[in-house]
Amino acid sequence: MSSHTPVIVVHGGAGTVAPENHAAAIAGTRAAAAAGQAVLLDGGSCEDAAVAAVRVLEDDPTFNAGRGACMNRDGDFEHDAAIMRSRDLRSGAVASVSAVRDAVLLARLVMEQTPHCLVVGVGAAALARAHGVGHFGRDEVWTAKAEAAHREVLAGRASADNRADTVGAVALDRHGHLCAAASTGGVLHKLPGRVGDTPLCGAGFYAHPGLGACGTTGVGEAILTHVLAFEALRRASERPGEAATIAASLCAAASRHHNGAAVGLILVRPDGEVAIVHASEHMSWALAIGDAAPISGLRRDLSPGT
Ligand code: ASP
Repeated sequence: MSSHTPVIVVHGGAGTVAPENHAAAIAGTRAAAAAGQAVLLDGGSCEDAAVAAVRVLEDDPTFNAGRGACMNRDGDFEHDAAIMRSRDLRSGAVASVSAVRDAVLLARLVMEQTPHCLVVGVGAAALARAHGVGHFGRDEVWTAKAEAAHREVLAGRASADNRADTVGAVALDRHGHLCAAASTGGVLHKLPGRVGDTPLCGAGFYAHPGLGACGTTGVGEAILTHVLAFEALRRASERPGEAATIAASLCAAASRHHNGAAVGLILVRPDGEVAIVHASEHMSWALAIGDAAPISGLRRDLSPGT
């Protein structure tokens, strides 16, 4: 039997969270962490825990994933999602999938049922349908909030920049295995076909037995240029106990190089050390260690080691 204390960390996106969503973002991330924690305490795998947490967030219209995803420039929904496990370094991701409520399940399908790492668009939807996975259709994902945001940007009354609410989770299970999972509608008003960091291994997510698991969030163009998820894990492994400080400086650098774009990440190392950091006004987050009640917030002050 293993002696690892289970850990789950979730985020609800780096950026600016609208004031009317503050309470919902904190409650939603806490509920997601609780769902993942329940799986871990029950002896479940890190994959099951991370997916359970992301599914809660995909179903919560507060967040930019699944139901509640933002629209692209044409008013359509295009989703990206990913998952990776440390156990065998398998990963799966989907990108640019039209109107799907549970894209993280498609990513898991790619990881578990195909020899591939990334499947996009109609191919990903066809794969999912062939396996009876996924809830598809505009009605599954449309929200009045997304419609309003799209119209505001179209009318020039609001900026599409640095909106938050993408979702992700990282988990460490009792066996010491690690997993990262994420789901997003991408960035508001993106060009049709645009893909960010979320489904890109090494940039948006990574999991490795010796390094840990990491998920990123924020403006994908800033993040993928810096291969942020892998780089944060690699650098943190060089200075155990300083993961938060190291990750914060990487997020700040990526943000600086991209005109102050929102950048954030969550990370758990094989020894259970956690980092929750962001260079952005907000990043809703929640953390559950062992059987302690999950804690959550809308910002994270830098406190190394926690
Ligand atoms: N990183 C996502 C993207 O660029 C968006 C986000 O995390 O808010 O597609």
